[in-house]
Amino acid sequence: MVGADGVIQAYGEADRESPMGSLAKLVWIRFQGDEWAARDMGFRCVKGGVNGYECWEKKGHGRVDLAKALKESCNLAFLAWADWSLAEEKRLYGDGVTRVRLEDAFRPFLGTRLKPGNEVPALGPPWIGDGDLLRTTPRAMLQWMIHPAQERMMAQCRRLMLGFQGFVMEKPTWWMKTGTAPVPGEYGETCAWVAGSNGVVTAVLRVPRGKGRSDGLARFKAIMGLP
Ligand SMILES: [Zn+2]
Repeated sequence: MVGADGVIQAYGEADRESPMGSLAKLVWIRFQGDEWAARDMGFRCVKGGVNGYECWEKKGHGRVDLAKALKESCNLAFLAWADWSLAEEKRLYGDGVTRVRLEDAFRPFLGTRLKPGNEVPALGPPWIGDGDLLRTTPRAMLQWMIHPAQERMMAQCRRLMLGFQGFVMEKPTWWMKTGTAPVPGEYGETCAWVAGSNGVVTAVLRVPRGKGRSDGLARFKAIMGLP
């Protein structure tokens, strides 16, 4: 975690890389969040999913806007909007530019896993963090979040998740984004991620394998002393 002094405090396996799960949605907010907010994007997440891909919430999230999709981590909405955005960028700027923009946005999390070339890759679940295409370490994720280039993303998350823009200095309020991700080499195992900020302190937590969203959230709150 990092506070107002800018000093990163790291504990445990802060430098161990693993799939980033739904924290990938923060990267999409950074990349396309302004566009999606400006267009007031909506989506209907229904049981049974789309093209054989079901949301992690099997019964569906129902009708979602950007705020709800982020808060409830609706995979199908993010995937639909991401597909829409790339199609739109391809139409406006062509394949080459779209590819470069996508690579730029996701570079810290892609490593060398994207096939070289100029084509825009077909998206799909791995691009919203379902699978192991996008990876990070707790420290790298935190460094990415607190970088000035992510200021708008952080402000947008705050606005979308908490419903207001400013923050009250005496009583900073936290937004938290959870995620679950596979554990490399451990088939069927998952670990949980939580990333959040109260506008002063920003923190990223990954809890070990065998844990889900709610465990991660409980642990995060306990560490930060939240009710
Ligand atoms: Zn959904």
